[in-house]
Amino acid sequence: MKKLFFKFSALLLLTAVAGCQNEQAAYVQESTFQESCNSLPLETNRVLTLAAVSNDWFQVYESHDQVYSIVEPYQFQMSISHLIVGNERAVLFDTGMGIFPIRPIVEGITDLPVLVVNSHTHFDHVGGNNEFSDVLAIDSDYTKSNMKGFEHKEIAGDVIPAAFCGGAPAGFDVETYHTKSWNASRYVEDGHLIDLGGRTLEILHVPGHTPDATALVDRENGLLFTGDTFYDDNIWLFAPETNIDDYSSTIDRLVDIESATEYLFGAHSSARVDAGRLSQLQSSLRKLRSGKVQPFEQVGKRLIYVIDGITFVTAKEVLDGRQGDITIGGSGFGSW
Ligand SMILES: [Zn+2]
Repeated sequence: MKKLFFKFSALLLLTAVAGCQNEQAAYVQESTFQESCNSLPLETNRVLTLAAVSNDWFQVYESHDQVYSIVEPYQFQMSISHLIVGNERAVLFDTGMGIFPIRPIVEGITDLPVLVVNSHTHFDHVGGNNEFSDVLAIDSDYTKSNMKGFEHKEIAGDVIPAAFCGGAPAGFDVETYHTKSWNASRYVEDGHLIDLGGRTLEILHVPGHTPDATALVDRENGLLFTGDTFYDDNIWLFAPETNIDDYSSTIDRLVDIESATEYLFGAHSSARVDAGRLSQLQSSLRKLRSGKVQPFEQVGKRLIYVIDGITFVTAKEVLDGRQGDITIGGSGFGSW
C-alpha cells in the first residue's frame, strides 16, 4: 500500500472527509493523479528502456542488467514488481495488483523457473501470487492471515473509475475485484540466500511498514530492492500493522547497506533511483519522530508531513508507537 485515493477536489478535501469514517478516501487527489496520466511514463522511468513485452496494462522497464521492473502505471498506486534474472532461475519480487495476470509478462521475459518473494503482503503486491507455485514467505501470523486473499469490500476503493487513467481498463470487472488466496511453498528468515546461478540475492527481513516486510539485496551488483519500506513517492506509515520503532531500526539497517549500493528499486512509482535516498529518509524520519515538526495537513486520521522533500502519511497512533493486532492480517487499507 502506497497511498489511498481521494476522489474530491483539494478544496473539498478537508470538509468532505474530516469527521466521516471513509478511510478509503485518500491522500492522492484525483486531479493530481489524472494530470500525471497525461504525462506517463514518469520522468524517472522515461530514461529507462521500455521492453517489448510491455502491454496495455504493464509497462516493463529494463532497469538494470537482467533486472526488469514491471510497472502498473494506469492505476494510482503505480505498483511495481521486479524480476531479477540469473543463469538458472529468476526471482519475482512482488506480483502486482492482480488486475491482469502477470505471469504471461514474466514468461515473455524468461523461461527459467521463477521464485516469488513478496516485499510484504499488502494486497497491491500479492495480486498475482496464485499464478505461481513457488512462493517464499516470512513465517508470521500476519502473513498467514493475508494468504487468504482480500475480499472485494476490503479493496474496492482502489478500483473506482477515478483510480484509473481513463477509467477502468477494458476486460476488468471492478465489481468482483478481489485478490486470490495463495500458499507459501517455503518459509524463509532474515539472511536467506537465493542462488540464481551467477547471481545471489539475500532476503532481509525488514519489519516496520508491515511485520513481514522484506528487502532483497544483490551485493555483488550493488542493487537494493526496498519494497514499501522505501519508494519514490509518499511514504505510507498509516495502517495499524505499521510499527514505527521497527521501521526506524529497519531504515538504520538499510542505510548501512546503502553505502555499498548503487541503485534502489522501490515498489511504487519510480522503477529505480540512485542510492542516497535512504539516508535522506533516515534524516527526515528522525525529524518526524522528534515531535518538533508540525503536520502539513490533517485529513481525517491521516497526518501528512513534508520534511526535507519527503512526504509521510501517518497517524498519531503510529507516531505514538502503537501497533494494532498483527495476527489478523491487513490489506494496508486498515484504519485506526
Ligand atoms: Zn504496503
